[in-house]
Amino acid sequence: MANNYDVIVIGAGPAGYCAAIRCAQLGMSTAVVDDFVYKDGQPALGGTCLNVGCIPSKALLDSSEQYHKVNSELSAHGIHAQGVTLDVEQMIARKDRVVKELTGGIRQLFKANKIDWLHGHGKLVEPKTVEVTRSGGERERYAAGAVVLATGSRSVEIGAAPLDHERVVNSDGALEFREVPPRLGIIGAGVIGLEMGSVWSRLGSEVVLLEAQDAFLGPVDRQVARTGQQAFKKQGLDIRLGCRVTGTQVGEDGVTVAYEDKSGSQELTVDRLIVCVGRRPNTDELSAKEVDLLLDERGFVDVDETCRTNLPDVYAVGDVVRGPMLAHKGQEEGVMVAERIAGQEGHVSYETIPWVIYTDPEIAWVGRTEEQLKKAGVPFSTGVFGFAANGRARAMDRTTGTVKLIAHAETDRLLGAHIIGPQASELIAEAVVAMEFGGSAEDLARTIHAHPTLSETVHEAALAVGKRAIHKAN
Ligand code: FAD
Ligand code: NAD
Repeated sequence: MANNYDVIVIGAGPAGYCAAIRCAQLGMSTAVVDDFVYKDGQPALGGTCLNVGCIPSKALLDSSEQYHKVNSELSAHGIHAQGVTLDVEQMIARKDRVVKELTGGIRQLFKANKIDWLHGHGKLVEPKTVEVTRSGGERERYAAGAVVLATGSRSVEIGAAPLDHERVVNSDGALEFREVPPRLGIIGAGVIGLEMGSVWSRLGSEVVLLEAQDAFLGPVDRQVARTGQQAFKKQGLDIRLGCRVTGTQVGEDGVTVAYEDKSGSQELTVDRLIVCVGRRPNTDELSAKEVDLLLDERGFVDVDETCRTNLPDVYAVGDVVRGPMLAHKGQEEGVMVAERIAGQEGHVSYETIPWVIYTDPEIAWVGRTEEQLKKAGVPFSTGVFGFAANGRARAMDRTTGTVKLIAHAETDRLLGAHIIGPQASELIAEAVVAMEFGGSAEDLARTIHAHPTLSETVHEAALAVGKRAIHKAN
């Protein structure tokens, strides 16, 4: 076979492109097969994250935050803005520019690292042979020393709310509204529901979220979830728990959603409906039947802790395998696998993967919750400190929220950090580093934090584990 590479990666999202770049850095000839086509019809690298996920959602969160600030917060600073208008088309165009710049950046990185980009659909036809189907239907076969599957995930669809991509959309569509829907319904009050609900609510939509579970943000620390629920309610997000959506009817004037809650049958009529009830792995048409690639019962590629599949020299990383569906988790797996293919000891610390929800206040956590530790019978101590007692947070008028640190009751080793508050997404990194180094609450307590900064809240929470926070009664 003429077309040989040391490594072929299928999928150019964060997991795949990081695997490819690390392979190239380690001296391996590398190709990436990816089939993504951006809405302008152009093939684009970066996968879900850069094109329709992390980046565009954060671009819109930022724009909507600016708008909200001008309208609702600046007057408290003595700044009075009049005649403020909203140009949604321009907001979307800015988001598209950010996406294009970043996906173009990955293309440059591929060129600089001499990585071949094969645009088309990749399929494992023999354990180490990938068939690429180009957009015109032509097929080519490539052989590799190792193959990395990084095909990512896509939105789950539900029979009760089929997408029409007009009024009923998934997260891709929620990033493309051309005007602010006066009434917006969202099925699923998870990460996407809260982030996209925040965007459109700040821009003026009346937002109702229908969540199947009785508990709000189930996997999150209970105290953090309660603070978040209260804050989001205050912002106007109408979060209805314990709802079972039974059907939708699309009409001229909107979408009527039928659902059941503990009081019985209910109806909600909205202008647009976003369905965001989770994501599922892209494993359809990924490998020929005779290859016998093992999937787990939920359709994820079955891998061990070092992302090896059941086939020799075939690895899988990112959303297509078990674990949290987060860009940084996939990136780390991609790097680990590249290093292992090169004979090194790449490793991912699954215990210290941070989570962030980019609402206002932001929610971020790492490690174990109190509930998990109780269940596991692990003795622990907690230290909690509120942003209301932090000088910088007060100066910013951002006083809602807390930092909670959890440490082992006997060894003081940090086991978890749970933050809700301003810039929680950045503050969590300190706890991640401390945990990665096997640090204790005492280590953070003895570390000097600049004043006045939000990070002093982490410092005080660490002191509070030993009941010696300075700026609160312990
Ligand atoms: P993907 O990014 O999904 O990339 C897979 C690529 O493979 C795609 O380009 C796909 O077209 C291609 N592909 C699939 N099958 C084939 C095939 N057979 N042949 C060729 N190509 C193929 N995560 C965060 O950490 N932070 C966030 O803030 C965040 N925000 C998000 C917001 C939204 C709205 C969404 C939807 C997701 C968000 N995520 C976020 C999740 C994040 O996008 C994913 O975890 C991440 O993109 C997974 O990376 P991946 O490389 O595994 O797969
Ligand atoms: P999610 O798992 O976060 O939330 C889905 C929610 O929908 C859950 O609360 C679930 O109980 C609910 N649900 C499921 N079926 C339902 C139904 N039939 N009716 C009503 N509610 C129902 O999933 P998501 O919000 O779709 O996001 C998918 C994944 O993408 C996330 O889990 C995360 O891994 C990733 N993501 C991450 C970020 C971030 O890191 N900031 C942002 C967006 C997405």
